[in-house]
Amino acid sequence: MAGHRFTRVVIPPRKLVVITAPSGAGKTSIVKKLLEQIPYLGFSVSCTTRPRREGEQHGREYYFISVDEFKRKIAAGEFAEYEEVYPGMFYGTLKSEIERIWNNRKVALFDIDVKGAHNLKKMYGDDCLTIFISPPSRESLENRLRNRHTENAKTLKQRLQRAIEELAMAPQFDKQVVNADFDTAFMRVKNHITNFLKPAETHIH
Ligand code: 5GP
Repeated sequence: MAGHRFTRVVIPPRKLVVITAPSGAGKTSIVKKLLEQIPYLGFSVSCTTRPRREGEQHGREYYFISVDEFKRKIAAGEFAEYEEVYPGMFYGTLKSEIERIWNNRKVALFDIDVKGAHNLKKMYGDDCLTIFISPPSRESLENRLRNRHTENAKTLKQRLQRAIEELAMAPQFDKQVVNADFDTAFMRVKNHITNFLKPAETHIH
């Protein structure tokens, strides 16, 4: 109709957006805000064997399962990817979780470690956008991990050591965003996602 412009956004089926970072880079806050602002993103809830932290809910942040249950799922081939992120602590993405999100006509959004992100990219190629969030400095990463108060001395040391190794892997990912200022980093991530999904937008004049 003259004077009217309809813009229909068609969400592409079977796409993945993976946010990865060393633990302590602030990726979980970015993921939470993305979910608040972009309704067509569906969070991929991972399975983990680590203990539940205060405020976390089974089925929301994670599916908290036992090591036996996790191993049974590995044997049954139920994971798209999984990692022993810290000694004795397994984390993994269920194939059924990705299907659940796609069946809801949403784009799957992941908050996963660097190796898991790399594996999803290998599996899904151009259908998968990987964004690596880096802390502005090693000190800031250490401070964030300490201030979280979720770690004891041993797990803090493990997490720091791992984070330092992971920082070196940044160039492997499609996009890199430095999280010096949260709002700026968030806007950059959001723009990368919008651009990645743009080819699916259909403009009807
Ligand atoms: P946290 O224990 O702090 O929740 O998570 C520890 C690390 O495991 C984070 O880097 C988190 O992104 C990662 N992680 C969470 N779920 C998965 C998953 O399904 N697969 C992999 N490979 N890593 C995950």
